[in-house]
Amino acid sequence: MEEWKIPYTNLRPMEQEMEGELREAFERVLARSWYILGEEDREFEKAFSEYCGVKYCVGTGNGLDALMLVLKAIGVKAGDEVIIPSNTYIASALAVTYVNAMPVFTEPDIQTFNIDPVEIESKITDKTKVIMPVHLYGQPCDMDSIMHIAQKYNLIVIEDCAQAHGALYKGKKVGSFGKAAGFSFYPGKNLGALGDAGAVTTNDEKVADKVRNLGNYGSNYKYHHIYKGNNSRLDELQAAFLRVKLPYLNRINSERRRIAERYLSEIINPEIILPYTIPKTECVWHVFSVRCKRRNELELFLNNQGIATNKHYPIPLHLQECYKDFKIQQGSLPIAEEISATQLSLPMYYGLTDSEIDYVVEKLNEFGLN
Ligand SMILES: *Cc1c(COP(=O)(O)O)cnc(C)c1O
Repeated sequence: MEEWKIPYTNLRPMEQEMEGELREAFERVLARSWYILGEEDREFEKAFSEYCGVKYCVGTGNGLDALMLVLKAIGVKAGDEVIIPSNTYIASALAVTYVNAMPVFTEPDIQTFNIDPVEIESKITDKTKVIMPVHLYGQPCDMDSIMHIAQKYNLIVIEDCAQAHGALYKGKKVGSFGKAAGFSFYPGKNLGALGDAGAVTTNDEKVADKVRNLGNYGSNYKYHHIYKGNNSRLDELQAAFLRVKLPYLNRINSERRRIAERYLSEIINPEIILPYTIPKTECVWHVFSVRCKRRNELELFLNNQGIATNKHYPIPLHLQECYKDFKIQQGSLPIAEEISATQLSLPMYYGLTDSEIDYVVEKLNEFGLN
C-alpha cells in the first residue's frame, strides 16, 4: 500500500530535521537510567503549560487517559451526562463511558465541523454535568458561546484538544478555556511523541493534583493509595522526545497553515466544498477536510491517481457498534451523518512540497470534468 505518489501523512521530513536532537534525548535518558516520573516529565510539563498559557500540565500515558482522568478527577460518574459532538474520534466518547457516565451525542455545524452551540443548549437536562467540545481537525470551537452556555447552566467545560495543539481562539490557546483539557501526543498529531503519550492542562491546582495521583495508582505518597487509580504516566523517554519537538510546533503548524491556504485558494471545483474557519481563530489544520456529494467516487479517483486520502470519520459515534445498546437510530443526527457520508481528508503534513501540492490541487480540479 505504501507506494502512494502522495501519502496521506509522512512523519519523516520533520523527524529528519530533529534526528540529532532526538538521539541526544534518548542518550540522556539512557545515561540517567530513570524512566518513569522524573526530570524529563517535569520539564516537559513546565514547557507545555507555558506554551498553552495555563498554570499546570500533567503528563499521561495517552490522550484517552488524559480525558478519562480529568472526568474522574472532577467527579463525573454513573448517572451524569456529558455533551460531546457525534462526529469525533471514538476516544472522546470512550473517556465518558469509561467513567460510567452517558455521552450525549450532539450535532456539529455543517460548515465548521465543530459542535454547534445551539444544539448543545437543546441537549441540556438536569443530569448534564459537562460539555466536552472537541477542537476538531485543529479548528477551535466557538468558545465564547460554549463558555456562555456553561455559565448559564452551571456546567463544567472539558476541552478535547487532541487535534489542536497551539490553535488559537481570539488570541488564546485552546486548552486554556475550560476547567481542564486533554491532549494526545499520538505520533500523527501536530505535536506527537515517538509512541503513545498525552497530557492534561488546567489552571486548577486541585484538578492537576488529582489527575496526577489518579494516573499514578491513586497514590499521593509511595504505597499510600487514596483513590482507586490507574497506571497512566508520561514516560521519561517520550517526555524527552516531546521536549525536542515542542520548540518546532509553531513552525510545523505554520507549514500546515501554508498548505491549507494553498488548498483553500487553489481548489476550485463546484463539486467540492472547502472547509470554513470561523473568524478570529487560528486553525492548526490537523486535518484538511473537504466535502463532496460523490465522496466515494472522489476518493477512488484520487487514490487511482496515487493520492492517499482518509475519512474522519466514516461512522459517527452514535452509530458505532460499541454503543448499539444506546439504541440511537440512524437519521437521528442527520448533520453528523451527512458529514460522515460526504467528508474526505486530503494529504496534510510537514514536508509536503510545492509540486506535490500542485499535483493534489490539479487532480481535485480535474474531478468530474469528463
Ligand atoms: C487522538 C484523539 C484522542 C485520543 O488520543 P490517544 O492519544 O490516541 O489516546 C482523543 N480525542 C481526539 C479528538 C483524538 O483525535
